[in-house]
Amino acid sequence: MANQQSVIEADFVVVGAGSAGCVMAARLSEDPGTRVVLLEAGGHDDNRWIHIPLGYGKTFADPSVNWCYEAEPDAGANGRRIFWPRGKVLGGSSSINGMVYIRGQHEDFDLWRQLGNTGWSSSDVLPYFKRAEHQTRGADEFHSTGGPLCVSDTTEHHPICEAFIEGAVALGYPRNDDFNGAKQEGVGYHQTTTRNGRRCSTAVGYLHPAQSRPNLRVVTGALAEKILFEGKRAVGVAFREYGLSRTVKAAREVILCGGAVNSPQQLLLSGVGPQDELAGLGISVVHHLPGVGKSLQDHYSAPIKLKCAMPITVNDVMQSNLRKLKVGLQYYLFRSGPLTMAAGPAALFVRTRAELASPDVKISVAPFSSDRLQDGLHPWSGFGLTVYQLRPESRGEIKLKSANPADPPAMHPNYLAAETDRRAIVDGLKIGRRILATPDMRRYITEEYQPGAAVQTDEQLLQHARNTGGTVFHPTSTCKMGADPMAVVDPELRVHGIEGLRVVDASIMPTVISGNTNAATIMIGEKAADLVRQGQTVGRMAA
Ligand SMILES: Cc1cc2nc3c(=O)[nH]c(=O)nc-3n(C[C@H](O)[C@H](O)[C@H](O)COP(=O)(O)OP(=O)(O)OC[C@H]3O[C@@H](n4cnc5c(N)ncnc54)[C@H](O)[C@@H]3O)c2cc1C
Repeated sequence: MANQQSVIEADFVVVGAGSAGCVMAARLSEDPGTRVVLLEAGGHDDNRWIHIPLGYGKTFADPSVNWCYEAEPDAGANGRRIFWPRGKVLGGSSSINGMVYIRGQHEDFDLWRQLGNTGWSSSDVLPYFKRAEHQTRGADEFHSTGGPLCVSDTTEHHPICEAFIEGAVALGYPRNDDFNGAKQEGVGYHQTTTRNGRRCSTAVGYLHPAQSRPNLRVVTGALAEKILFEGKRAVGVAFREYGLSRTVKAAREVILCGGAVNSPQQLLLSGVGPQDELAGLGISVVHHLPGVGKSLQDHYSAPIKLKCAMPITVNDVMQSNLRKLKVGLQYYLFRSGPLTMAAGPAALFVRTRAELASPDVKISVAPFSSDRLQDGLHPWSGFGLTVYQLRPESRGEIKLKSANPADPPAMHPNYLAAETDRRAIVDGLKIGRRILATPDMRRYITEEYQPGAAVQTDEQLLQHARNTGGTVFHPTSTCKMGADPMAVVDPELRVHGIEGLRVVDASIMPTVISGNTNAATIMIGEKAADLVRQGQTVGRMAA
């Protein structure tokens, strides 16, 4: 039972302080007359490994900052459960992600527009990418300076990454020094969401500078349990703060920013979703919306792992206390060295078939290797490539397992269900092997550890992908934007059929973008803040 004394009053209640939630809270509270409450299930981002880029490996499976989900056994992964880390801390997944800065292709947003989403074409969204950005290279047609999200060049040009780039160029792939400029295609180094060698999460870039505002209240350890409705109008949120039931009232709007797993979960728990599923769990239906939790997309990757001929990999550093000390000192004194490294420093965006209009596969390289990152790096010199298809056609779903908000929902990714997805990952693995066979790369390789020399046919490569692949952590589209019967929000991100309720996070992407999803999610937050501020918020019922 909610204790009446614990009721908080706000204009906007933002649920989830992740990539999009921090943007929303910071932007909406710029108006001193607007009261914003931000609820975050996790805690403060004071774990030091969050802020050291390579500390990514330390938070990857740390339940103190991570939901550490596991997807349901998936036929596409030969029945395995795939580990799904998601940030549970201020900054959300932007506090634990690989910091790779990729916006996606211009064609992705033009497709969103083509699907009926007015205001979301590539030229419509570019100003919001730019508004977010502080580009350390300076401003140009595609980039700007002065925004909260610092985007920096990779300073650590590891010999293995250099060889990968040279090998790809030798095969005829174009060099690309800006994947977020005119074209994504080609090979080069990623830029990263870091500032002076430290992670720039949305908590660091947006939230902390805003946190002293008297009109912004951030409640950590606050698990939102249910949206409260008066008829079909959202009027607040019931939440549990360190075990205590509380209520926050929203005079204007409730804005869900829980991410692609938790925003649909929150809608379903609150009675907005497919009525049969809700009835089966004894949840009263507020509004029948069949698309909630459906249309899930994710990037499924397959690895190629190599034994390295020289002791130059991060694996080697981790084997020696002396080298760890040296690397630590290098970082603390000069903000350089392996600790500044993002998840995959360099990559190739490639078309697996000449007739494609834009790249359909990404291959990234990292100078380290592991069987499972959560178990630590290999004890031998190793490195790896990660291959994934950029625009999967397979669609999965998120469903409730129970009506208890503390229970994780069931995640059914349905990987590699579509023939296009299977073919692209196999073709991508073959391109990766061709790069590894170039003289530039061969000198670093003693042996292909996985898939291994015995794996040669397309079917064997596909089985390798199914047996060893995993997510690159980009679930989207579970509350997709659109006007079709499975759409959950409209182009202003208002939930269809409900007043005073929006979803603003990676779940609204109509289709997953071609690349890493953090920058696009931040863009969504920036655009949504404008939509709210422009006063286009007067709730309306679906026709
Ligand atoms: C390990 C990992 C590596 C990645 N690497 C990259 C990368 O290198 N580059 C890139 O671009 N993208 C990367 N991504 C993806 C990217 O970070 C995400 O797509 C993006 O952060 C999603 O943002 P979001 O706002 O949708 O959700 P999130 O950032 O996940 O935020 C959701 C927030 O809501 C909170 N929340 C959820 N439920 C509740 C509730 N009931 N009550 C209160 N709070 C709640 C969560 O704790 C979380 O803080 C990675 C992701 C992960 C997990």
